[in-house]
Amino acid sequence: MDKKTYDLLMEQGAAGTNLAADAFDELAAFAKAKRLRRPDPAWRLAEPADAAEPNARRGVNKGKTCSAEGCGKDAYCKGRCAAHYASDRRLDPAEREKAREASRRSYAKRKSSAEAAK
Ligand SMILES: [Zn+2]
Repeated sequence: MDKKTYDLLMEQGAAGTNLAADAFDELAAFAKAKRLRRPDPAWRLAEPADAAEPNARRGVNKGKTCSAEGCGKDAYCKGRCAAHYASDRRLDPAEREKAREASRRSYAKRKSSAEAAK
């Protein structure tokens, strides 16, 4: 993965194209390593249900399906698929505040470590 591929995949995700699970994982790892904007989990295409080991890397949600009505995708977190989990987080004010708080903490941490490095 290079920056060009990262930009391309991020563009595709933002445009509403779902990314293959392994491409998404690679993209997320790259973003983490380079401290770039992380891709939205909702962009990750669920692995096909007939894959050899569905939910292999998922713990508590292993073998469960999304609890949203009419959605049969594999559960990703809190009994929801990636898309419903992401949308729950966007809509829940408490979750939104939690995410903002985490972002503030992370910013303060980066800022202080950048100043310490000077
Ligand atoms: Zn769902």
